Amino acid sequence: MTRRRVHAVSLLALLLLFFLPQSRAQTPPERAAASRLIGEVFANGQQLSYVSALSDRIGSRLTGTANARRAEEWAEGEMKRLGLVNVRREPYRMAASWERGPASAALVSGGNNRPLAVASYTWTPGTEGPVEGEVVDVGAGRPEDVRRVASQVKGRIALVVPEGADLDSVIYNFYRAAGLVRELKDAGARAVLLAADKPHSILYTAPVEFTATGKLAALPTVSLAREDVLLLRRLLSQNQTPRIRLDVHNRIGGAFDATNVVGEIRGSGLADELVVVGAHLDSNDLGPGALDNGAGSGAVLETARAIKALGLRPRRTIRFVLFTGEEEGMVGSIAYVERHRAEMDKTVAALVMDIGAGRPQGWFSMGRTDLDAEIRELSEPLAQFGDFTIEHAAFAATDNAPFMAEGVPNLILIQDETPYFPVHHTIADTPDKIEPRDYASAVAVFASTAYAIADRPQRFGRRLTADEIKRMADETKVGDQWRAAGIWK
Ligand SMILES: [Zn+2]
Repeated sequence: MTRRRVHAVSLLALLLLFFLPQSRAQTPPERAAASRLIGEVFANGQQLSYVSALSDRIGSRLTGTANARRAEEWAEGEMKRLGLVNVRREPYRMAASWERGPASAALVSGGNNRPLAVASYTWTPGTEGPVEGEVVDVGAGRPEDVRRVASQVKGRIALVVPEGADLDSVIYNFYRAAGLVRELKDAGARAVLLAADKPHSILYTAPVEFTATGKLAALPTVSLAREDVLLLRRLLSQNQTPRIRLDVHNRIGGAFDATNVVGEIRGSGLADELVVVGAHLDSNDLGPGALDNGAGSGAVLETARAIKALGLRPRRTIRFVLFTGEEEGMVGSIAYVERHRAEMDKTVAALVMDIGAGRPQGWFSMGRTDLDAEIRELSEPLAQFGDFTIEHAAFAATDNAPFMAEGVPNLILIQDETPYFPVHHTIADTPDKIEPRDYASAVAVFASTAYAIADRPQRFGRRLTADEIKRMADETKVGDQWRAAGIWK
């Protein structure tokens, strides 16, 4: 065993002797710069302080709230302090504002007045005074579940227990919510209880409708703590008829302007070509959004900081964009693409980070098999971070989606999602969930890949034609999501 290992080591040394000097001599400059960026992120990276500034000092950042505005101002200030150029906040209109008010619920049947833990889903209406009703179990809330109980829903409060907590299920449930609540309203339900899938009474939130149009959910919709869900289901299984009182107050206001925060490092030879490096600055409002998406915002700013600190200048312009309105259905990135549509031919790629601070595992290439060879080549110098996968699945779940619909090559960093989904959109999404080395690895991979794409002599992939986009949208079904989100009108 030992002898074999020694043999293997000496063989490796011999191989290195033969190949290292040669390959080093051939290292293209963009690759050397990418390696220096990795070193800079590990040695001096500020990503954790960026997350702390957003999560600890500002807190939750629901678009349209005072905190979101503070975050936009802070990000603009940071970009200026880093020496980025063309730093600006680009406004776009949101049709309504929303702020959480108090919400309470109680089990009132069987002589009880027992409090239940609830929190509104965002952009949902209040109850306009307490409402009471018997609970009807709508299972996982799929269309067939609603059809099965439709005749029993009238005047009642619907309990839905969405299934699954992996990325695919989260996306399914996210897109299903608006239709589900509308169907329940049509069947006569008074309100909806959506089971939180998190342990220990942790509540979850998300929008129900995409709010690009300023639409509220069709019914008051609250997250119900898992333990209370199980209580209701036990009572139902014993043929009890649990009756709930729900009292929800949310403040809904008029139209307002939110802003995306933008800054650039101008390129040297191909300055009119752009690489967009983005993440969303906003968060949901139950927690301070450390992983979702303080971590991505921190990665965008650290990419800018590290490039400036090393005095690097890529061939192409890198445009750093901190989007807002992502949690309402990618409203900010949709507005960005509308505003910059004339630049889409010159937008070489859009890189987005939005799966928290877990270690990097590869790239989602969003239906693009034609980018495989180039992604592999870009990932070669990153072998120290493990094996990278390329996943071709296409879905609209974060700010790359409007770029995808324009045919612009777009990548999401795949990260270990195990630290992410247990706290995503909850009060527990705090900086202590970040493992610093894993996060630094993710930031290093994100920064060095963005730089390499901006600096390599040849363009990264190409923009798809309208026909190719349509074919890809049909084949992957992402077109349905683009329509639901208002990306495709
Ligand atoms: Zn996010």
